[in-house]
Amino acid sequence: MAEKKGMADENLTPLTYDPQYILMVNQLKKYFPIKGGMVSRVTGQVKAVDGVTFNLKRGTTMGLVGESGCGKTTTGRTILRLAGEKTGGQVLFNGKEVYDFSNAEMRSMRTKMQIIFQDPFSSLSPRLPVGEIIGEAVREHSLVPKAEFNDYIDQVMDNCGLQPFHKDRYPHEFSGGQRQRICIARALALNPEFIVCDEPVSALDVSIQAQIINLLKELQEQYKLTYLFISHDLSVVEHISDTVGVMYLGNLVEYGKTENIFQNPLHPYTKALFSAIPVPDPTVKKERIVLEGSIPSPANPPSGCKFHTRCAHCMEKCKTQPPVQKEIEPGHYVVCHLYDK
Ligand code: SF4
Repeated sequence: MAEKKGMADENLTPLTYDPQYILMVNQLKKYFPIKGGMVSRVTGQVKAVDGVTFNLKRGTTMGLVGESGCGKTTTGRTILRLAGEKTGGQVLFNGKEVYDFSNAEMRSMRTKMQIIFQDPFSSLSPRLPVGEIIGEAVREHSLVPKAEFNDYIDQVMDNCGLQPFHKDRYPHEFSGGQRQRICIARALALNPEFIVCDEPVSALDVSIQAQIINLLKELQEQYKLTYLFISHDLSVVEHISDTVGVMYLGNLVEYGKTENIFQNPLHPYTKALFSAIPVPDPTVKKERIVLEGSIPSPANPPSGCKFHTRCAHCMEKCKTQPPVQKEIEPGHYVVCHLYDK
């Protein structure tokens, strides 16, 4: 299927902008075509993101969790318009549809919406000194007057725990943690409002992870930043997030405040995922729920509830009827037939 910009979605109820939310995502879909045969015909779709809906309050962090291949990273990249055109749905950033921006508007919006990647080494050019890596886009967007440029970069580096003499060094001269600080400084130098943090600490040692998480929290406070924090590490997500979304096969199956999701998980998938979190108290016995089988292919997802092939509570209707999102307590949403009235 050819993708069209702003493709009409018949079942979409358009969003009404609420200024408390920096980001409003409504039924977001991103499908990738599968091509095959002699003439490279489109033979199917990989439904990487298949109707994701959530709102993100200004100055807060939303954690996005789920097994690898569930669509977390594609969701983040689609929100930032880094994965080509969306297949359907809406992404409102400060009330404006991101996919309606012209190229020139998008270029200036790029400074407001940044991303930090998992692997700091491969996302840094090995041929540029650190000062140039951090300052390149600042200069390109003329964000500060020339006379103030050096002091500005020094200040951003200092805020990220880097020294002025680091400016002349190259990425290979730094440790993994310091390289992630450089990536954060590069994003921060553009004075963003919103940052997608895509597994920013999973390549780092545990002791360094804590330093980077604390740095992100300090910077959030200082710069009033909003984060979408993608991670498979539930302990890290619990520590940094105000709200959490749980993804399974391209859909959000549960979404709510962090304490509600961690203390009262509702969806059978969330329960299984969270039952694997280690408890530091050896006297506490926790029953681990082991999920049978592996995550099905997003190119051929199961009918009805996509989780029904692995769910211990599966009912007949789960095999044919997709469940809809319900609000179980204020701000706590679940997509499961167990909560049908
Ligand atoms: Fe399990 Fe049915 Fe709920 Fe899906 S809808 S999670 S199969 S109980």
